[in-house]
Amino acid sequence: MSPNAESTAFRSALEVIRAVEPRVADAIGAELTDQRESLKLIASENYASPATLLAMGNWFSDKYAEGTVGRRFYAGCQNVDTVEALAAEHARELFGASHAYVQPHSGIDANLVAFWAILADRVESPALRRAQVRQVNELTEADWFALRRELGDQRMLGMSLDAGGHLTHGFRPNISGKMFDQRSYGTDPTTGLIDYDRVAEAAREFRPLILVAGYSAYPRKVNFRIMREIADSVGATFMVDMAHFAGLVAGKVFTGDFDPVPHAHIVTTTTHKSLRGPRGGMVLCGPELADQVDRGCPMVLGGPLPHVMAAKAVALAEARRPDFADYASRIVANAQALADGLLRRGAKLVTGGTDNHLVLIDVSGYGLTGRQAEQALLDSGIVTNRNAVPQDPNGAWYTSGIRIGTPALTTRGLGTAEMDATAELIHTVLSQTTPGANADGSASKAKYVLDPALADKVSRQAGELLAGFPLYPAVDLG
Ligand code: PLP
Repeated sequence: MSPNAESTAFRSALEVIRAVEPRVADAIGAELTDQRESLKLIASENYASPATLLAMGNWFSDKYAEGTVGRRFYAGCQNVDTVEALAAEHARELFGASHAYVQPHSGIDANLVAFWAILADRVESPALRRAQVRQVNELTEADWFALRRELGDQRMLGMSLDAGGHLTHGFRPNISGKMFDQRSYGTDPTTGLIDYDRVAEAAREFRPLILVAGYSAYPRKVNFRIMREIADSVGATFMVDMAHFAGLVAGKVFTGDFDPVPHAHIVTTTTHKSLRGPRGGMVLCGPELADQVDRGCPMVLGGPLPHVMAAKAVALAEARRPDFADYASRIVANAQALADGLLRRGAKLVTGGTDNHLVLIDVSGYGLTGRQAEQALLDSGIVTNRNAVPQDPNGAWYTSGIRIGTPALTTRGLGTAEMDATAELIHTVLSQTTPGANADGSASKAKYVLDPALADKVSRQAGELLAGFPLYPAVDLG
């Protein structure tokens, strides 16, 4: 590759866009500047490689390709077949899965594909066999209504939201909570850890069709072997949503009992978080569910996004290189250094630390809500997000937690020494922020008081910390 290839590619792209709508070109340039200048600790974000980004900006975006490789409902999909097959092959090899479906447009979509595949396999197919027909439109009215009742009567057991579970694991604001009768397992109130005996007890009482493991805000490993045993003991299908930690599985940080792929019947993921690919989703499974999973489009998905599948192929190829394993282990080393730095300075952490890519600070220890802490940190150039902690008294909007993660800063090259410096900046801001009051003098859960001079100082220090680790160093937009 020529030394200026990346700069030339992005500069030329912006020049072409600018000729049509300069404000879009300006916004794209401004986004790069903002990302370069902010200390990004959002646990679900990362920085995709230039090759991954560039694979998305081309004429694959023009294609309709409903169906699967070699079996499309549209003519002229031979090149889409090439990239979809490549992405699936890289995914299978990377994760050791027998089947990979790379069409889901996002993590939510991947979960919907998986839920439907399980329902179709466990409920619809047996109903069709009973009625001795091959398709639902051949069912009598009575059999169809019976099937709909049966489908609507299914149960899911997943991790509770305040313990770190995700909305798509059967919660009411999401379609999954309308498809399934849901019950949650939480974490032990003293240790903050999953109590597998309690999960087994809940499974015995509730008899779910699906047991879901996976999280957005649980800072520890999950033992998938034990979870599979629990699922088997009640005849449930075991599904793992590894959206957050797929990069740690890919990089062989999570192996044995902590690698979901050999233990789960079906695994879903996003491709853009710790896996560092384009925004999108993916489903991995064994041969039993493969046919149902491949019906994702048009069952629950719109036409596949071939340009994103091309980018998935590129990012998954990158994740198969030896340096990705090094990246994944540095993500965890950095999260642990950040946690240690915070603990040493007196912060309260959910579970007392981390063994993955994220840390959950209980900011009630600083007398703040998550909302106040999130804004005070943002004023100081540190981007995080507020998050509920287990049994959170402030609910899901104000919260009592701040979730921070290391995949993005690790991509930039920051290491454990910089994590200690980051812990110092976070602690300085949170310990110097005080809760504000409403106009009537009552305590506010949103307002806060932070000396702007201190916020500016921390912002400058964050900038100095980042200066040694330029983002997209080979991209110069001029
Ligand atoms: N599953 C988990 C565990 C997640 O954390 C998320 C996103 O935050 C999703 C699914 C949904 O992913 P997406 O935003 O791509 O739909």
